[in-house]
Amino acid sequence: MNTEMKYTPLSDLSGGGASETKLRIAVQKSGRLYDESVKLLNECGIELRNVKDRLKTVSDTFPMEVFFLRDDDIPQYVEDGVADIGIVGENVLYEKNKAADVVEKLGFGKCRLSIAVQRSQTYEGVQNLDGKRIATSYPFLVSEFLKKQNIIAEIHEISGSVEIAPGIGLADVVVDLVSSGSTLLMNGLKEVETILQSQAVLIKNKTLNKQQEILLEKLLFRIKAVKKAKRNKYVLMNAPNDKLQRIIALLPGMKSPTVLPLAETGWSSVHSVLSEDEFWEKIEQLKAAGAEGILVVPIEKMVM
Ligand code: ATP
Ligand code: ZN
Repeated sequence: MNTEMKYTPLSDLSGGGASETKLRIAVQKSGRLYDESVKLLNECGIELRNVKDRLKTVSDTFPMEVFFLRDDDIPQYVEDGVADIGIVGENVLYEKNKAADVVEKLGFGKCRLSIAVQRSQTYEGVQNLDGKRIATSYPFLVSEFLKKQNIIAEIHEISGSVEIAPGIGLADVVVDLVSSGSTLLMNGLKEVETILQSQAVLIKNKTLNKQQEILLEKLLFRIKAVKKAKRNKYVLMNAPNDKLQRIIALLPGMKSPTVLPLAETGWSSVHSVLSEDEFWEKIEQLKAAGAEGILVVPIEKMVM
């Protein structure tokens, strides 16, 4: 009977005894960063085994072990080297003030840490915060901000539903995470100052060994290819040959576009890559220059 096992038995998930070095990554267990974090790993070709309701898992397609944790604990785990790397919001990373290096901004989980006051309150500048009671889940970042501004105020640390604090008389001011601002609005508050712009980042322990660094480099190479692809679109269009030169001149000069003859004489198919920031403008110009049947296709990976 062939008893050889294709996969590591679950009892071996700790990595103890396993010969191969695995990169250990800490990811939020559930919440706003979870889906995007797992999606990013998947897009990097890292499939995870049995993700549901697990505290940790491994990948069969990349030497990686994944720990699912509360986001607040991720900086500590990475500082301690229990995890080699982690995905966490900058807001949490800087609030926890742990020793871990930011390797890459990931472009999701975007929000800002802002000061808000009651809509009826007048606010002319930070000096208005003097002597006020501030409710926040970010006592460290708020006290650093106040120190820098030479303001003395009372900080009340609360762990959730910060935005109701003024309404129930607990505080005059709140400092909380904002993305659209609708939560503030619903609670009769207005945003008056931003302390920090935040997004999810990949962080790493300060003293990775050589093998771990190699694995991190490999992961980073893939993350960059995925991010680059998201910022670009593949564009195909038909162009009458007499207008080809004008159309080609509009396309980015990275490498010259691909030009193929169409079955219909006098026409060509032109393929190129356009970046997000110039996309609509270029499409309009291409149309005006005589391009027809413009097709736009998402790019999965871009390896330069
Ligand atoms: P956990 O149980 O892991 O402690 P949590 O309740 O602290 O979860 P979430 O609300 O899931 O955290 O948010 C996780 C992160 O998502 C935040 O720390 C922040 O970086 C990011 N984020 C993006 N937009 C927002 C937003 N509008 N409000 C709160 N967090 C946001
Ligand atoms: Zn949290």
